Amino acid sequence: MQNRNLKCNATNCAHNESCECRAGAINVAGREAITTSETGCSSFVDIANNGFTNSADCGCTKPQNIKCEACNCKYNENQCCTADDVRINANDASCQTFVQK
Ligand code: SF4
Repeated sequence: MQNRNLKCNATNCAHNESCECRAGAINVAGREAITTSETGCSSFVDIANNGFTNSADCGCTKPQNIKCEACNCKYNENQCCTADDVRINANDASCQTFVQK
């Protein structure tokens, strides 16, 4: 079985542990997005606004655990992400892997 990976550079997210996402599943927003910067992880939780440093560990999030609204992305099939490797950016938690159809 193919090993699919999600790497998240948003280390200020409560779900982030050494650039792995421990949320178990995430949502990516960007229904109208045609560029990376218009996408964004809506499961992001800013550590600075939370009383805790790490959220509950729900396991390592994989691309198959992404529900994605960015239907203009070539990897999007019925709001499921089909990319093998997904990278989430540090500054705005946008999806670096987005490629316009
Ligand atoms: S690669 Fe495309 S389909 Fe997958 S999460 Fe990123 S924007 Fe959504």
